[in-house]
Amino acid sequence: MENNIINSTVQLAMRCPECGKLEYHELSRFQLSGVKSLYINCSCGAEKLIIKTKKHKEYWIQVPCVVCETRHLHTIPGKLMWNGGVHYLLCHETGLELGFLGPEEKVKELTSGYEEDLKALASEFPDDDYFHNSDIMYEVLNCLHDIAERDALYCQCGNRDVDVDIFPDRLELHCKECDSVNIIYAENEEDLKVIQKVDNIELVQNGFECLDSYASTKKSYKNTGRKRNK
Ligand SMILES: [Zn+2]
Ligand SMILES: [Zn+2]
Ligand SMILES: [Zn+2]
Repeated sequence: MENNIINSTVQLAMRCPECGKLEYHELSRFQLSGVKSLYINCSCGAEKLIIKTKKHKEYWIQVPCVVCETRHLHTIPGKLMWNGGVHYLLCHETGLELGFLGPEEKVKELTSGYEEDLKALASEFPDDDYFHNSDIMYEVLNCLHDIAERDALYCQCGNRDVDVDIFPDRLELHCKECDSVNIIYAENEEDLKVIQKVDNIELVQNGFECLDSYASTKKSYKNTGRKRNK
């Protein structure tokens, strides 16, 4: 039954966004059972990764990015997580390898060339109070997760593999194929109510849309005072 043991754990190799230290963490399928979110911390205490799943159907992984100073959302289908392959946790913007998930040997091979104590590119990455309202953000991510699981998150251009970046106050959905952007705010109860009413999220081809409590009260986006700071 050795195969079962190998397939129920994966190794995470990831540099800490705070202190730059490269560390390995073992994750097991068991650890992800019955928990809402699994937090993986560096030995310095900084948060490195948050993994969330619903019955192992799909894993949603929040990866802090030192380049973008945001969090990129990665999704790994449940079947692929434990299949012995390596999952690259890449920066959506630059393609930089932020970390690897996979069998111990393969992951260690990939990181063997890395300098052990290279400093992180940016040291002022916010951790503890990253979100303006972490309860709301958590619920909004939950809603998005449900929508994505129903296959109801897609772009008009036909792309169903939408990038999600997580900011302190919002989610930015981005279609790489046609460069459309959709913003979902996640700061207050009103923002949560908006996404709770949504059945599907369709990115407008080549477009820019904003899903928030202000937008839904007929005010135009420009008048909301909320800006996309990119
Ligand atoms: Zn650290
Ligand atoms: Zn990035
Ligand atoms: Zn598109």
